[in-house]
Amino acid sequence: MSMLQNKVEDVIASDRKYLWHHITPYNEKVPPTVAVEAKGAWITDINGNRYLDGMAGLWCVNVGYGREELAEAAYEQLKAMPYFPLTQSHLPAIQLAEKLNEWLEGEYVIFFSNSGSEANEIAFKIARQYHEQNGEPSRYKFISRYRAYHGNSMGALAATGQAVRKYKYEPLAPGFIHVRPPDSYRRPARQSIEEFNIQCAQAIEETIIWEGKETVAAVIMEPAITGGGIIVPHPVYMEKVQEICNKYGVLLIIDEVICGFGRTGKKFGHMHFGVHPDIVTMAKGLTSGYLPLSVTAVRRDIYEVFKASDEYGYLRHVNTFGGNPAACALALKNLEIMEQENLIERARVLGERLQEEMKEMENHPLVGDIRGFGFLLGIELVEDKKTKEPAAPAKVGQIIADCKANGLIVGRNGDTVAGFNNVIVLSPPLSVTDEDVAFIVSTLKRVLKKHL
Ligand code: PMP
Repeated sequence: MSMLQNKVEDVIASDRKYLWHHITPYNEKVPPTVAVEAKGAWITDINGNRYLDGMAGLWCVNVGYGREELAEAAYEQLKAMPYFPLTQSHLPAIQLAEKLNEWLEGEYVIFFSNSGSEANEIAFKIARQYHEQNGEPSRYKFISRYRAYHGNSMGALAATGQAVRKYKYEPLAPGFIHVRPPDSYRRPARQSIEEFNIQCAQAIEETIIWEGKETVAAVIMEPAITGGGIIVPHPVYMEKVQEICNKYGVLLIIDEVICGFGRTGKKFGHMHFGVHPDIVTMAKGLTSGYLPLSVTAVRRDIYEVFKASDEYGYLRHVNTFGGNPAACALALKNLEIMEQENLIERARVLGERLQEEMKEMENHPLVGDIRGFGFLLGIELVEDKKTKEPAAPAKVGQIIADCKANGLIVGRNGDTVAGFNNVIVLSPPLSVTDEDVAFIVSTLKRVLKKHL
């Protein structure tokens, strides 16, 4: 607290001196937003400015800020039993694992860790060891998509398909191969969306064959690419992906780190497509970002292969903090809130409204495409609607800055492989009020109109 009582300039000076901001250029001119309190969808900064957080933090504060029940759930658990490793067990972890099975509508065994990246690393290790124990040790490769983001560690970053995030840190973990994502907006001319999506799925099959079908362990994908610019596949794409994975004995890992916990208007994003993932990874919305917690959910029959193997067949993975009791207790309460307040249905209905309202801007010269599902919306900005040349970076930056100056935080993502970041993203708390949605729409429209 004492620091916050200092003058704002002193706080900013301390920030500049001691804090290394995540994935942020070192632009001395724009001071960081120092958040001091938050309620619902709104944060207040150290200067007393209020902003509607249209990104729910980093796509995670699904039940909104300021939920005292969550703080209390963690506090009670911290008092009762703050830590015990999951080499053994504790009640909040058991209860949450059971609850997640209910949410997954399938038979899964739950492995806890601390971040989305870690959850994906664990999925990769499980996939490789599963094949090894199943008598197919040559299966070590993973197929993912360009434009996807799967995390910051050497394996999860290798799975990521965005060159700018990777090239300064290579070589990363070997064995990761990328294919084209079903970015229907930029499909070849004269190809229907359906044909293009089928072709993108077929690229996975071709890659499996070319790489050697006995060498591929798993395909990893989000239900919709989020951080790469909101790319929602046509249902036929996911149908084909499932068929291909089944045909070649390749595991399907679905990364629900963003799409999970109601973000897309269903419990999990993959539920829009009727696929049955072998492994599901989750983080973010699991605790609405209040505490770190992530999950690698593994289909029971895969777990059974581990269990049935000899005494050397166990998973050689441990992490100190994964499944912390307070984080699990908080997650349970978080899921309870989503159920009680019907937040998933709310995300579906309000998300549709948001998209419909924004579609009125389709004729704006900068708006190339508006897409998404649930409370995930992408607005792709272009210089020219015919050539689809991406909007100039400075223009996109100015629009985002203008939104912020008008009290609305929006995100920015895109095809960083090609070096442009021209998709404005909205992923607000699922708990936003009708007035909040109206504020998002009116602010964004007003700002876009200013940039005619
Ligand atoms: N997968 C996806 C789809 C993500 O969006 C992210 C984070 N943005 C991650 C994995 C990595 O999660 P974390 O930052 O918690 O490591």
